[in-house]
Amino acid sequence: MAYLTQPDYVKYACSCGQIKPITSLYFCRHCLQIRCGFCICHEVDSHYCANCLENMPSSEARLKKNRCSSCFDCPSCFHTLSTRATLAQPRQTPEQGSGDSKVENKQAKKMYYLSCFNCRWTSRDVGIPDQPVASGGWPERVNPNATRINQLLDYYKAIAQQEKQEKLDRERKKFAIRGKYITLTDKTGLTGAMARNIAGLPSSESTMSAIANFVPSEASADVEELSEDFYTKELNLNQITSMPQRLAAPEWQPSSVSRLYPIAKLLSVKRSQRCRACDHNLTKPEYNPGSIKFKIELLAFYHVPEVKIISYEPMKPGCTSALLLKLTNPTGHEMQVRLLQPEEVPDTEDRLEEPKSLEKSLEKSLNLEKDNLWYETVQRKADVTATCRVVTPDVTLTLAQRDDAAEYDDDATHDANDIILWRKSNKLALRLQVRCGEEVEAGSAAEAALTLQYRYRNTVPAPHEPRDHTLHATLMLQLGHVSG
Ligand SMILES: [Zn+2]
Ligand SMILES: [Zn+2]
Ligand SMILES: [Zn+2]
Ligand SMILES: [Zn+2]
Repeated sequence: MAYLTQPDYVKYACSCGQIKPITSLYFCRHCLQIRCGFCICHEVDSHYCANCLENMPSSEARLKKNRCSSCFDCPSCFHTLSTRATLAQPRQTPEQGSGDSKVENKQAKKMYYLSCFNCRWTSRDVGIPDQPVASGGWPERVNPNATRINQLLDYYKAIAQQEKQEKLDRERKKFAIRGKYITLTDKTGLTGAMARNIAGLPSSESTMSAIANFVPSEASADVEELSEDFYTKELNLNQITSMPQRLAAPEWQPSSVSRLYPIAKLLSVKRSQRCRACDHNLTKPEYNPGSIKFKIELLAFYHVPEVKIISYEPMKPGCTSALLLKLTNPTGHEMQVRLLQPEEVPDTEDRLEEPKSLEKSLEKSLNLEKDNLWYETVQRKADVTATCRVVTPDVTLTLAQRDDAAEYDDDATHDANDIILWRKSNKLALRLQVRCGEEVEAGSAAEAALTLQYRYRNTVPAPHEPRDHTLHATLMLQLGHVSG
């Protein structure tokens, strides 16, 4: 017998067919479907520095190249650098001690430098002068290839713009044929160029000129000769940078440790996640980077009954073994649960509507490039062919609502029942039988599929929609290996 607490032993089937532990699944209250990281949209909500927790809008983050301006990483070991203060000794002057105010002026001044507590690298090692202020003010280095990179960026922006325009023109033609799409230009009498101006996009003329004036790079076979001492001079590995150190500063790629400069810290992002079928948010973090809370947090863990394996007997081919499961109702409402075989689930495919037409407006078609490919995957059913079969009893179990105060109760009620082992507030232990297939080979993984049919009360229903729903969750139980 084995006692298992690891979540990977029980996996749930997502509406897209993926099988994942409940802790990595979401539950869309609007579609009433389980969603996983694969079938939701991930969006960047805000950028922030994980060290100083400064928050910034994405436009500013882009301008700063996604790096914090006041925090630095060690160029040698990539640990965060700390600011250290020292007292700079005042210069000796002949009239020492002649007046109070003079003495004050000559008091040692605090100066700051950057230091790594991990490898002892300091900004003094590479001759960066100490700064009079604790944060900021560190000399910025200019990328030697900045001009060329900007040229390239402009060129690729122009190409992207041109492609977008072509795509838009094609779509407009398509919708014009259907006759139900009113473009901004049709409605307001604006010309395309004016609309682009309003939207802040470059006009097609400037796009054309950016493409025409671009000078492509040319490959050359002439390579600078290596200096003679490259072969003769003895190498001191302590003075040569490693590959990771070089690549951490791709603009300069210093080859000698004396050229290592502090690396501005990369920003982190907070993500929000959106259901792809209905566009509602599944998670939305608090904007404040210091907060770990969420405004919206539709995790499957809070909505779908959780199943844990308490214990099981070893599986033998053609034999029946005992299986103890624990069921938990995470919601604030009483829940009726039935156990079914996966093939007994009625087809609910019709509830999945065709995804909404994505081109709702000109604005949306300008910046929304969702693909519809995922939809085909959603239609796929989870592959739940299993080697073992749970014998599902024909009973409806009632799970009480979650009660946080009941967590402190020690007493569990033992039902005089063949199926229910004990109950305790919103939890229930079940005694079930598992049949292992006759021709299953010894040593192969023992897996059993099971479907939970449960009553779910939607607490935020749209008007005129039923509050209570019968939902299904199919799960896979990993029951070790089949013994011989
Ligand atoms: Zn949804
Ligand atoms: Zn999924
Ligand atoms: Zn920072
Ligand atoms: Zn370091």
